[in-house]
Amino acid sequence: MVGRLAAAQPGWSVRADVVVVGSGIAGLTAALRLRGLVDKVLVVTKDVLDAGSTQWAQGGIAAALGPGDTPGQHERDTLVAGAGACDREAVRVLVTEGPDAVRELIALGTSFDLHPDGELSLTREGGHHRDRIAHAGGDATGAEIQRALIAAVARAPEIEVVEHALAVDLQLAGDGGVAGVTLHVMGEGRRDGVGAVRCRAVVLASGGLGHVYSQTTNPAVATGDGMALAYRAGAVLQDLEFVQFHPTVMWLGPHSRGQQPLISEAVRGEGAFLVDWEGRPFMQGVHPLADLAPRDVVAKAITRRMMATGHPHMWLDARHLGRSFWTSRFPTILASCRQHGIDPVTELVPVAPACHYASGGVATDVWGRSNVPGLYATGEVACSGVHGANRLASNSLLEGLVFSRRIAEVLPGELRPWTDPVADTREPVLVDGAGRPALQEEMTARAGVLRSAGGLMAALDTLAGISRLAGPTVDQDAWETTNLVTVSTLLAEAALLREETRGSHWREDFPERDDLDQSGHHEWWVENGELRHGFRPAVPTDLSAAGRP
Ligand SMILES: Cc1cc2nc3c(=O)[nH]c(=O)nc-3n(C[C@H](O)[C@H](O)[C@H](O)COP(=O)(O)OP(=O)(O)OC[C@H]3O[C@@H](n4cnc5c(N)ncnc54)[C@H](O)[C@@H]3O)c2cc1C
Repeated sequence: MVGRLAAAQPGWSVRADVVVVGSGIAGLTAALRLRGLVDKVLVVTKDVLDAGSTQWAQGGIAAALGPGDTPGQHERDTLVAGAGACDREAVRVLVTEGPDAVRELIALGTSFDLHPDGELSLTREGGHHRDRIAHAGGDATGAEIQRALIAAVARAPEIEVVEHALAVDLQLAGDGGVAGVTLHVMGEGRRDGVGAVRCRAVVLASGGLGHVYSQTTNPAVATGDGMALAYRAGAVLQDLEFVQFHPTVMWLGPHSRGQQPLISEAVRGEGAFLVDWEGRPFMQGVHPLADLAPRDVVAKAITRRMMATGHPHMWLDARHLGRSFWTSRFPTILASCRQHGIDPVTELVPVAPACHYASGGVATDVWGRSNVPGLYATGEVACSGVHGANRLASNSLLEGLVFSRRIAEVLPGELRPWTDPVADTREPVLVDGAGRPALQEEMTARAGVLRSAGGLMAALDTLAGISRLAGPTVDQDAWETTNLVTVSTLLAEAALLREETRGSHWREDFPERDDLDQSGHHEWWVENGELRHGFRPAVPTDLSAAGRP
């Protein structure tokens, strides 16, 4: 799976001190923060600028900004949701630097919703014990943040942006550090086709892996590319088994695939509640926070109820919120429901869990550094350790913001000298894009909300078969499918090794949480062309001390 992949030889080459891969909140924040500190920043993004998950975020961004709230309380809620697998130092960084980071976003031009007195309107979501979620346009927070960031980048001519540029692989120097990025540019410009950017550092901000599964809230670009290409370059990946399934994704029928509409947790934050097919609320007694319990608890409760009753979904009752509240507070969700034939003002909304968020990814320290010299990672592609086994709602936009700011603090002082990449003459052998649906079906059935050793081993067999489906074409679909095979395989292997139930990882054959043996993190890396994996203890802070390659 590892040794035979290599990008095609580049036909053109340009230079930039720093290449930022991805244009969501993490990538654009990094680019804006780095401008002026390095000679040239190049942002490459595989679709248009706003194609990532950031644009779709509904609920908001969490930070201790409200009266009576403190970073300490935000820290406690984050650690509880993370189920004992968070990196405490990373969490502390997140919650203490979060309020300033959000204020900076406001100064940049983001318009969050305000009370009539001009104070931020803050709401509550699952797992939070305080009102601390800043939101915009009611439920269009991500779109507003993405708009403000794109506008800021447009005002910064020193940042170059290339859209429709798929980063396919890193180019490495003789010391194993970053020397460049191979790109596949699909357009009509002077840089079409396969090319290379020679650079001194790469900031990976390429988002998540939602399309490992058949149903996801993620847009089409979320195919785990960044994790797979970092892994091929020798980066350590961590916590891949912790995939968050959002409990309330609109159920569109048994054959619906790809990105599905999300009913934000904020709807439950405002009083909506789950009911079964008899109309009975079922979250009371399951958790002290009932319908506002952490996501894994709610997703499991829904799944259990679906299995017990044989129904393919449960229902969300938000009728009592009323028409005018729905219109002002959740206009996007209201429109989305109506587009699919449901009026949440008068009807129950069918909901079921679907893949939402990758808590794991490229392992970084609290400055966004990976173990590959010159490679930094931020946002959903990274595993900074703030989410542990389960992400607290609305902490992910904040993570991208906070850790991109941090990368910009250290990266300019650590720029590598210009180095020549080591020639790589291997021909790319990519998986045929036709294998993608089978991969997604298998991962959904056997490595989704419910997992067991037998199912995971069967999934690994299926994935091995799909990985042998070499296709004749070297195009975006083939690269993405190849990357999906890589991250799916690592995810399933990590899930198999973790013989316990913790946070978003639920093993039917190991229903208890194992605090004695396996509270640490799985890590995966390639060493001398060989796949290696192992555990390291929870709550590490120093990567060099963690025995990394
Ligand atoms: C429906 C939905 C609702 C959400 N609601 C919330 C919320 O309310 N609050 C919250 O905190 N979080 C929320 N999240 C999660 C949050 O939106 C994401 O975790 C966050 O936006 C990730 O930001 P990012 O910058 O890391 O990645 P993204 O915004 O996903 O951006 C990734 C970028 O990388 C590009 N890219 C990917 N691969 C390549 C490649 N190979 N080459 C070049 N470019 C590439 C993509 O095109 C994109 O520009 C939600 C997510 C979804 C899907």
